[in-house]
Amino acid sequence: MVSFRLTEEQDALRELTADFVRNEVIPQAEHHDRTGEFPVEVARKAFEVGLVNITIPEEYGGGGLGHLDESIITEELCYGCAGMAISMTVNNLAATPVVIGGSEELKREYLGQLTSEYRTASYCLSEPDAGSDVANLQTTAVRKGDSYVINGTKAWVSGGKYASWYTLFAYTDREKGHDGVSAFVVPADTPGIEVGKKEDMMGQRASHTVFITFNDVEVPAKNLIGAEGQGFRIAMKTFDRTRPPIGAAAVGIARRAYDLALRYSQERKTFGVPIARHQAVQFMLADMATEIEAGRLLTWKAAWLADQGERNTTVCSMAKYFSGDAAMRITTDAVQIFGGYGYSREYPVEKLMRDAKVMQIYEGTNQIQRMIVARGLLAR
Ligand SMILES: Cc1cc2nc3c(=O)[nH]c(=O)nc-3n(C[C@H](O)[C@H](O)[C@H](O)COP(=O)(O)OP(=O)(O)OC[C@H]3O[C@@H](n4cnc5c(N)ncnc54)[C@H](O)[C@@H]3O)c2cc1C
Repeated sequence: MVSFRLTEEQDALRELTADFVRNEVIPQAEHHDRTGEFPVEVARKAFEVGLVNITIPEEYGGGGLGHLDESIITEELCYGCAGMAISMTVNNLAATPVVIGGSEELKREYLGQLTSEYRTASYCLSEPDAGSDVANLQTTAVRKGDSYVINGTKAWVSGGKYASWYTLFAYTDREKGHDGVSAFVVPADTPGIEVGKKEDMMGQRASHTVFITFNDVEVPAKNLIGAEGQGFRIAMKTFDRTRPPIGAAAVGIARRAYDLALRYSQERKTFGVPIARHQAVQFMLADMATEIEAGRLLTWKAAWLADQGERNTTVCSMAKYFSGDAAMRITTDAVQIFGGYGYSREYPVEKLMRDAKVMQIYEGTNQIQRMIVARGLLAR
């Protein structure tokens, strides 16, 4: 049997998040987009109402919720502001490798840090010359007694300056290719870590994205996540859990643009009638609403499969690229429906169009997602 109805708990969670977004996120979004400030105070309030660390298991102080729940929350947060939302969702990405492969000791210490008070952790996979091409990582971790010594530069680390620890991927044995990549927890106060300047980005400006250099950074060997050489597999398993909420984030941005465009189209008049009476505008609205529904359904299916512990890599990539591309089209059409006003910073739709663009880039570009889907199809 298929049911598209959420449980009472999920409906309540959505309501709680929507209220939070209305009261705490939307009123601050323009400020954080303009200044690029990481919204620590808003995120702390989200932590207090239970909207942060939701997929960390309860035994480590987290919400113990599933990825469908996470997708519901993320859609609402990104309806408010996708840039600000990073401060409330980034832990899910950094913590997932620890949840998947970390020792009990690592889980207690580092997941516990995130859940005992509002703190963040960031995910360090990408490098200046290794985004899509993960095998081209240059960062190395060399075993030295009871430690590993890490050297390299990580790129585009969301929330990197504010993190109390990093989940970092490095080669422990380059000769082995993907099987030579290992994952580590690196405390942010370890000597040798240099956080670069905040990137001045087109959209999601409050996410405070930085490059970070690791110079002879020594971490205890117990900070290895899983065994040596399991890092690539842990990163890929992580994406099977974190790409559904990325799809949900795109749906949230798109839904906001659609709501604003729908309302505006009923207020703005040309040729004596609201522009919503012109068929060309109606068709844009129809496409927007349809793609939002389709993106959400794909996203929820990918998340639901993750919650069942079933293989979902192909559907995850479908959800990520369909929703990301849809968000780009929908926000562009929202600007179109607003006409000249849509192009002005005084109206909120241009921000949504800027925020949407990176949904086609991060967590694997949408070209890479299509490659993953094709690989899945051809392997059947
Ligand atoms: C705002 C922002 C936040 C980010 N946050 C994080 C983070 O927290 N942690 C982290 O680790 N990373 C993060 N990233 C990095 C992000 O995941 C990478 O930017 C992304 O994976 C793309 O890598 P790249 O930028 O090196 O582009 P490239 O890999 O150089 O790709 C450039 C272009 O070539 C295309 N391309 C590449 N290879 C192929 C191919 N084989 N076939 C077809 N097309 C191809 C790509 O699709 C893209 O269009 C973030 C990026 C941004 C912009």
